[in-house]
Amino acid sequence: MSRCFYEKGLRFECQRCLYCCSAEPGYVYLSRTDIINGANATALSPRDFISVYCRLVDFGAFSMVSLREKENYDCVFLTKDGCSIYSARPLQCRTYPFWRSVIESEESWKKESASCPGIGRGSLIDKAEIERRANAEKEPYMILKGNDIWKE
Ligand code: SF4
Ligand code: SF4
Repeated sequence: MSRCFYEKGLRFECQRCLYCCSAEPGYVYLSRTDIINGANATALSPRDFISVYCRLVDFGAFSMVSLREKENYDCVFLTKDGCSIYSARPLQCRTYPFWRSVIESEESWKKESASCPGIGRGSLIDKAEIERRANAEKEPYMILKGNDIWKE
């Protein structure tokens, strides 16, 4: 069996440049747990949290819930001091850059480093932790066409 390129771990330490929270249009898809955590952090009901801070992304038969962006593509929760819901930030944010799509090859990992200066810096994250973060990825909350946006 071939050895994966991160067998001996990968270096990563966030440099707090905030590029991944801003700069380009993108999606932060939320799971049910992410929505509940966000609702608690903003003192809203899950339904109101979706209405105020999220947008629905249409996939035809269903929609997924993603955080809104400001006009300049900043995340709706980004402030000059960083993420305003940091301790309740979605799993997609917590696990970056150890996403399957990023660690699928050494090439994709190196390519991602062009937009994340934390890649290749700081302490070594071991293989088990890399895979724990990659596998933690996300069961997006899906809304079937015609259904209510939130089911308790
Ligand atoms: S792009 Fe990388 S270094 Fe910059 S804030 Fe995001 S995770 Fe941290
Ligand atoms: S929720 Fe916080 S960590 Fe995630 S993209 Fe928005 S500002 Fe960044």
